[in-house]
Amino acid sequence: MDEAGVTPDDIQSIDDIRKLPFMQKKDLREYYPTDTFAAPIKDIARFHASSGTTGKPIVAGYTVHDLECWAEGVARCLTAYGVTREDIVQVSYGYGLFTGGLGAHDGAGKIGCAVLPTSSGNTAKQIMLMKDLGTTCLCCTPSYALFLAETIENEPDVRPEDLKLRVGVFGAEPWTEGMRHALEQKLHIRAYDIYGLTEVSGPGVGGECEFQNGTHLWEDMFYPEIIDPVTLQPVEDGKEGELVFTTLTKEGMPVIRYRTRDLTRLIRERCECGRTAVRMDKILGRSDDMLIIRGVNVFPSQVEAVIMEMPEVTGQYFITVDRVNNIDTFDIDIELKPDYYGDNLSTIERTKQQLSERLVSVLGIKPTLHIVEPGSIERSMGKAKHVNDKRKFKN
Ligand code: ADP
Ligand code: ZN
Repeated sequence: MDEAGVTPDDIQSIDDIRKLPFMQKKDLREYYPTDTFAAPIKDIARFHASSGTTGKPIVAGYTVHDLECWAEGVARCLTAYGVTREDIVQVSYGYGLFTGGLGAHDGAGKIGCAVLPTSSGNTAKQIMLMKDLGTTCLCCTPSYALFLAETIENEPDVRPEDLKLRVGVFGAEPWTEGMRHALEQKLHIRAYDIYGLTEVSGPGVGGECEFQNGTHLWEDMFYPEIIDPVTLQPVEDGKEGELVFTTLTKEGMPVIRYRTRDLTRLIRERCECGRTAVRMDKILGRSDDMLIIRGVNVFPSQVEAVIMEMPEVTGQYFITVDRVNNIDTFDIDIELKPDYYGDNLSTIERTKQQLSERLVSVLGIKPTLHIVEPGSIERSMGKAKHVNDKRKFKN
């Protein structure tokens, strides 16, 4: 604040928030583990940490009040999806330092649902309990939901009709409308988006409503802005940019103008559901996830959107980018469903051709496609890894 020349007197209305400097992941790393906390450790009731694949993780601390607000945010989402205390909620997000498991758990608990805390993994047991206890609401990453659905398809003793599932609560990673339709059909559910991040709270910063037309952000707790990631200036309402949050109720680790790196836009028009909370569009991806291949910007979610249009594929994909002789290579492994894979070669070639044409028209660049055996792409129990950018290890 001193560097930016801002004093408390400068802040008279919410618009003055623009005078405040941004916070970024690197600030939280620099003050690892707890130097950004605003409450003394004796008032901290729980810690979580984000994955921190490179270097130190980011540690978040929550007071009792923070945990209550967080549960309230998740409970609002679940309520918007039509979940009530009559529901049996299976939490297949990982429990532990990751905010997904305990976040969904506390939100469902606040409503009074029966919570089944399976955590992620052990898929056969998950499905057995889902069937035997009559789970009605499944919370997990969309990629794990796809894996669960595939496993159910291959399980002779369980048919989706035998399950009582009706609601899916999917988030923690980007997913497309195509993925939504696939999951809704396979699992006989309505699939809803839930959004959040550890630095701001956890899952439940916002969620969709029954209209599935944008994620309502709980503005009374999290003040959202969209900025141009280059100029750092606010963009016009409705324009795409980087999502920034200021927490309004957090005591343990409040953040001011935290740059999420998530790219989306805000929708100010009133939603038909009657909720007044602003909505955001589906997240395109994190700016860090954007691949620049031969000068063209590519988001994995764009690849997913095309792949999910094709009924012949399983929905699993893996992108490999490399640089050979100073030229970027762009390869995508795609699985065909067993019925099609066993088909004659011309089906495979035709699918490949169709996918290739669609990808070129959407991405503006031609990938090399590899149709691989069903089941050969590694399944994820949590957040899926869709990309290997080998250029990162070269200079
Ligand atoms: P990490 O940074 O280690 O992945 P988090 O679990 O806090 O830790 O991840 C939060 C990030 O996950 C968000 O910033 C966003 O990129 C992604 N995310 C969470 N929910 C969604 C969602 N519904 N749609 C798209 N991306 C999401
Ligand atoms: Zn709504």
